[in-house]
Amino acid sequence: MTKTALTSLSADQLAERLTDLRADYTWLKEQELKLDLTRGKPGADQLDLSEALLRLPTGHSNRTGTDVRNYGGLEGLPEMREIFADLLGIDPGQVVAGGNSSLSMMYQVVTWMLLKGGPDSPRPWSQEETVKFVCPVPGYDRHFTMLAELGIEMVTVDMHADGPDVAQVKALVADDPSVKGMWIVPTYANPTGAVCSTEVAAELMAMPTAAPDFRILWDNAYAVHHLTDQETKSADALGLAAVSGNPNRPIMFASTSKITFAGAGVAALAASAENKAWYLQRLNFAAIGPDKVNQLRHVEFFGDADGVRAHMQKHRALIAPKFAAVDQALSSRLTGLDIATWSKPTGGYFVDLDVLDGTASRVVELAKEAGIALTPAGSAFPHGNDPRDRNIRLAPTFPTLAEVETAMAGVAVCVELAAVEKLAS
Ligand code: PLP
Repeated sequence: MTKTALTSLSADQLAERLTDLRADYTWLKEQELKLDLTRGKPGADQLDLSEALLRLPTGHSNRTGTDVRNYGGLEGLPEMREIFADLLGIDPGQVVAGGNSSLSMMYQVVTWMLLKGGPDSPRPWSQEETVKFVCPVPGYDRHFTMLAELGIEMVTVDMHADGPDVAQVKALVADDPSVKGMWIVPTYANPTGAVCSTEVAAELMAMPTAAPDFRILWDNAYAVHHLTDQETKSADALGLAAVSGNPNRPIMFASTSKITFAGAGVAALAASAENKAWYLQRLNFAAIGPDKVNQLRHVEFFGDADGVRAHMQKHRALIAPKFAAVDQALSSRLTGLDIATWSKPTGGYFVDLDVLDGTASRVVELAKEAGIALTPAGSAFPHGNDPRDRNIRLAPTFPTLAEVETAMAGVAVCVELAAVEKLAS
């Protein structure tokens, strides 16, 4: 049955609809739910897929005879670096395999650019009057809070289905040398699910920038996190940058946080020879070596990159139904009402929901009162400020499928109620 757009209802029709929706919402509250769709964490069943890691490694030497229990090996075990290189489509020589968190590696890079500057910096970033980063929105909240913490200003550009708006980025970086960097989650972006096309990546790597030490922090956290048979390959950021004559522009990051254990996986950084040497030189003062026991454990568990790919199929089997449930709940209540749009991601961890302008905060509030925790409205924007108050990030992996179904049916009621409240006011 086709529904009528709420925006075309008369005042009387809206008043009637509001009465019905308030009744639905009262019923929802009576269910006394306690559900949480806030953070992109793997579910316990996903963590169980890697349970065998807890009994590994079986030995304590890697293939070159290094005793992984001891200090040393700053760039990580070669086998671990080869697995990351294969998954990311790059050369193992470009990879550093590190500790448990890629976010920490990003933080190190930004901090060291501030304190020391990079190989091509005229001076450390902290000696500039202002430092700015281009931030595609909606984006990953922790990228933005990291920059806020470090005193870096954020300028936003729109995120499209094929990546950031290149024309907007070019206009920001061309003449302003204080624009020093940019975030991008290239494959299955957090939260939109967008995949940066090779064309967009090529333009970003080649565009003229006023800052000679402009960095693109290429956070490929979801490179192998496919939700369909179509296993989209990421654009070759390092290769495109090298052929454009800007080899030091991108620094790539990835981790097994959402492959094995979130918080106890292995992270990686990959970059040009010069950037990698720069990173290791700084790291040398901060660590004597990474956790090679954990790296060996991962190497034994997976064997090779195909082992990771096979493992990701098992994740997909567990979480794809949850994404389908989100779409089903939103479609069945909201399609045709002209008050909301949402992403149908083919990978990653999130669904990006846009509600009627000016109602996202109200939706989150209504959901909270009904026992459904959502990420605060605006969290996918720098300083939590969504100028249209319309964006909500949904994270369906952690709850069970039944909980996702119940929670999303409730969220859909809240979306419609908030819209009708606004239209009727
Ligand atoms: N990058 C993105 C885009 C993420 O969504 C997340 C986690 O949600 C991370 C990085 C965190 O990665 P790690 O656990 O390796 O620090």
